[in-house]
Amino acid sequence: MTATIDFLSHLNPSQRRAVEHFCGPLLVVAGAGSGKTRALTYRIANLILEHRVDPENILAVTFTNKAAREMKERIQKLFAERLAIAEFGERFELLPEYDQVQLKSRVWRTYIKDLWCGTFHSLFSRILRFDIEKYQDEKGRRWNRNFSIFDESDAQSLVKEIVTKQLNLDEKKFEPRSVRYTISNAKNQGLSPQEFAKEQPNYRGRVISEVYSYYQDRLAENNALDFDDLILMPVRLFQQNEQVLGYWHSKFRHILVDEYQDTNRTQYELISLLVTHGETKRSNWEWRDRSVFVVGDADQSIYSFRMADFTILLDFQQDFGDGLPDEDTRTMVKLEENYRSCENILQAANQLIENNTQRIDKILRATRGAGEQIFSHKADDEMAEAEFVINQIRTLERQNPELDWGSFAILYRTNAQSRPFEDILVRLGIPYTVVGGLKFYDRKEIKDVLAYLRAIANPADTVSLLRVINTPRRGIGKATIDNLVGAAQELGTTLWEILSDETSVNTLAGRSARSVNNFAQMISRWQEQVETLPVSELLQGVLEDSGYVQDLLNQGTDEAEDRVQNVQELFNAVLQFQEENEEVTLQAFLASTALSSDLDNLKEGQTAVSLMTLHASKGLEFPVVFLVGLEQGLFPNYRSMNDPNALEEERRLCYVGITRAQERLFISHARERRLYGNREPAMRSQFLDELPEELLATHHLGRIPYTKGVGSSTSQRTTVGKQSFGENWQVGDRVLHKKFGEGEVTHIFGSGRKISLAIKFDSLGQKIIDPIVAQLQRV
Ligand code: ATP
Ligand code: MG
Repeated sequence: MTATIDFLSHLNPSQRRAVEHFCGPLLVVAGAGSGKTRALTYRIANLILEHRVDPENILAVTFTNKAAREMKERIQKLFAERLAIAEFGERFELLPEYDQVQLKSRVWRTYIKDLWCGTFHSLFSRILRFDIEKYQDEKGRRWNRNFSIFDESDAQSLVKEIVTKQLNLDEKKFEPRSVRYTISNAKNQGLSPQEFAKEQPNYRGRVISEVYSYYQDRLAENNALDFDDLILMPVRLFQQNEQVLGYWHSKFRHILVDEYQDTNRTQYELISLLVTHGETKRSNWEWRDRSVFVVGDADQSIYSFRMADFTILLDFQQDFGDGLPDEDTRTMVKLEENYRSCENILQAANQLIENNTQRIDKILRATRGAGEQIFSHKADDEMAEAEFVINQIRTLERQNPELDWGSFAILYRTNAQSRPFEDILVRLGIPYTVVGGLKFYDRKEIKDVLAYLRAIANPADTVSLLRVINTPRRGIGKATIDNLVGAAQELGTTLWEILSDETSVNTLAGRSARSVNNFAQMISRWQEQVETLPVSELLQGVLEDSGYVQDLLNQGTDEAEDRVQNVQELFNAVLQFQEENEEVTLQAFLASTALSSDLDNLKEGQTAVSLMTLHASKGLEFPVVFLVGLEQGLFPNYRSMNDPNALEEERRLCYVGITRAQERLFISHARERRLYGNREPAMRSQFLDELPEELLATHHLGRIPYTKGVGSSTSQRTTVGKQSFGENWQVGDRVLHKKFGEGEVTHIFGSGRKISLAIKFDSLGQKIIDPIVAQLQRV
């Protein structure tokens, strides 16, 4: 029984009960950091080692693929430790390296390889590889096991083709991305095109149901599935084919689900079918040697926009229990000790979440010391906020040998917020990783917009031209593009030389000649202005004339809105670049962005600061956490401000963020923030006011100057600033600049202290100037 002692000595009595649970249903509910995931992991190990369950009879659902990998590694380690003692009489770490490697690979082959552990999507696409040929949809169509999985952009192209070509609809009215979103929602609710059609009272809904129906035809023709099908199709298959369900039901005798609060209806349906074999009468379920074990925390339910529904968690006992009076104690374990965070952090989280009305009260006790106070920081703006955060990170890293870059996480509400942090990290050469998302300059929309700028700056850049020639779509098809590219290759010239010659285009481009000519003229127009226009104006012109932003706005989806925000953030980056640099040409700006994207991915074994959205941080933990951008309208986001349910979800998100921290938590907000290119005053988030004041250390530091060279220009600006702060600039003002002489104000960006002016100098042309730094005078 050494193994039992091995495993269970790392657990408290409640966790132990959960881990030792063998058959029947069990719900583990508990607050953040109470060891739910640990209990689930140990339970898998315990099933295999103590109950001799064959790993291939276990199905474990995790929230991300990374979590699945970590869980397997953890189990592998537990087994290796146990076998090391049993076979060598020695602890694993003390074994020679050769034996360690051997042992680990044996453990992998024997115990881990056959374990079904992964996300819903990965596990059920695997099941479909086995059995999809037995499935038939409502129109009698079939798929074979070589099916392709269409990603979101494939799926959207398909929808677009149907909208424009098959149904001849106006794609502005039936924007492919939003139509696809509606279809996806229908699928997540388990509705077929026919079922969906029945629910549509109006014209738009009926049209979308028609698109949905064609969309399914096209998927079938391509022997393809989209992401939603990976969940929905197994449900249908199980309902349709008793034998298939029977097979998987008897194979997966033990089903475990982490983060159960974020399960949606179709996912629940899958679990339920596998557990109950479609039986509705509880007495028919055979619990003798099987189990369903779920862990979750309703306070951390943050995916309702993907149809997650935490009432599924609340209904667990009713769904899988036997309804006997002592059910609560038999089929539920509550964990009440938090092992992750220092007491101050935990108390803050507990007090915050108590403001939610839709919740079940629970206890979460600290097991660790009080720790430091939470530091709340008010910065001047988003750049100052980023400087503050990175400065803290550098100081803490330097002063504490136990911390490395990997000990720090920066959590934000929206993807676009990562940019100022990334800029400083790049400048300082601090390794960082953007978890669950792309680095700013790798994002599609940023690459698209930069490709426009590159094509303008360097017409020989054919790759960039090709990227944007039909983005957004302007009716230039692949065949036309191939023709043009082919001709350029043939003549040994660049694509641009062909594009910029109207006669050639008219000859080569057939019906799309007009679109191609318009595109080329647009690019040349900008090329002519590269020398005279500031980059910010050029960019603004590009965004407007190309229709790029308008196209995103037309899509009207959350994802498109995210992209618009990112593009606006790029505009902010340009403004900042112009403020901070003497040489403000387009080429110089492009070079600075290339530097950012040149950052290598992390080398093996290197640790890095983690940047991620609050959504991506679920389940993770870090010694030091920075929760940034706590401002009304940003976090909680503006859409939740008038919607009590949405506001509660934002608060749960804040609870998730706070409870990621182990030792130290910093919360920050800015006094003003650039939104849509303008500096807007920002109000501190109501969540800050909901935290207990006595736990917060607030100390107004203003801008923290960097020690060496970094950001010194900005900190100088603050000190010089006050002199001309308050000056009321107007377009048309005549000004005198010490170096550039006299000029006229043509544009005003921002307001207050953060104002910058575009000035047309009599001798030099246009420049963007910070009037405060330049100590500009009116003449
Ligand atoms: P979340 O709700 O954020 O997903 P969780 O409930 O899944 O959190 P875990 O991640 O499993 O919590 O555990 C939090 C931390 O506490 C981990 O570092 C884990 O190793 C540690 N821990 C869990 N149980 C114990 C215990 N009994 N003794 C010591 N440390 C523990
Ligand atoms: Mg967890």
